[in-house]
Amino acid sequence: MKNMEADIAVVGGGVAGLPAAIMAAEAGAKVIVFEKEAKAGGAGNMSMGPFAVESRIQRQKQIALTRNEAFAIFMNYVHWHSDAHLVRNYINKSASTIDWLESLGLEIAELATLYPGAYYTYHMLKGPNGRPGPGSGALMMKAMLERCAALGVQVLVDTPGKQVIMNKGRVAGVKAESKSGEAVQAKVKAVIIGTGGFGNAPEMIKQYVGYEWGKDLFSMKLPSSTGDGIKMAWEAGGARDDMYVDPHLWYTRTSCRRRHAYDVTRIRGLPQTEPDG
Ligand SMILES: Cc1cc2nc3c(=O)[nH]c(=O)nc-3n(C[C@H](O)[C@H](O)[C@H](O)COP(=O)(O)OP(=O)(O)OC[C@H]3O[C@@H](n4cnc5c(N)ncnc54)[C@H](O)[C@@H]3O)c2cc1C
Repeated sequence: MKNMEADIAVVGGGVAGLPAAIMAAEAGAKVIVFEKEAKAGGAGNMSMGPFAVESRIQRQKQIALTRNEAFAIFMNYVHWHSDAHLVRNYINKSASTIDWLESLGLEIAELATLYPGAYYTYHMLKGPNGRPGPGSGALMMKAMLERCAALGVQVLVDTPGKQVIMNKGRVAGVKAESKSGEAVQAKVKAVIIGTGGFGNAPEMIKQYVGYEWGKDLFSMKLPSSTGDGIKMAWEAGGARDDMYVDPHLWYTRTSCRRRHAYDVTRIRGLPQTEPDG
């Protein structure tokens, strides 16, 4: 068994995990990131740019949407099922997140909307060819990994986290496993879990959301989205919240041969449905 020691372990090196690792390291903590896949970055590698409200570029372009309005639109859209405090925080910090991404050397190429009539909140990042598009998100995650490296954050790929070690009710470490099957154990003071959703865990979808995968729900099935971190947190005594998906209609242009109805999980993943539901 390989033994390690740090202040903080981050399980999952994606959009949530890498910035958390960077923030902790910038605050002086020794950080180890455990990443299940051969490459870190998670679904962020496929994205094209983040949402933000009241960013510098929006103000320059006189886009009038306020954080309060965005909060109301968001919460009404999800029928107040989402955690209002989390959503409020997410929206309030969205503009400074764009500033932060720019500080990593990334550039916003343009503002966009997801569908006609929507607000210009989509901050499309410049990709490798100087334009927004596939590859923009991978560049974003690469910049975060470079910042991790500069700060001495160890990112262990092919090393899925397996269990949060508890001692007398407090987090004491994390167990992981290397690709060769070797057990890895890190003694830490805190564990941050950022392992994404459960769109590739049909049994969890069935048990907690009530859909049967392949029958009435067809998710993107991102290979890594097996709900590992949710289970790890529960096993460690983490509070259970309701598990939920919110319907999200997209691609409703009449030029599409079929109208695709997408389900996105509230916070935890990206299952999708077929038009018949
Ligand atoms: C095709 C696509 C396009 C998208 N485009 C956009 C966009 O343009 N703008 C936008 O804002 N959002 C976009 N999203 C959504 C966005 O990418 C996600 O909301 C975001 O990545 C979620 O962050 P996360 O850290 O929770 O999960 P992820 O980014 O998926 O990160 C989770 C990480 O945890 C790892 N992991 C899982 N289990 C374990 C384990 N046991 N141990 C260690 N590591 C583990 C995974 O391998 C992964 O690296 C898109 C998503 C997809 C799929």
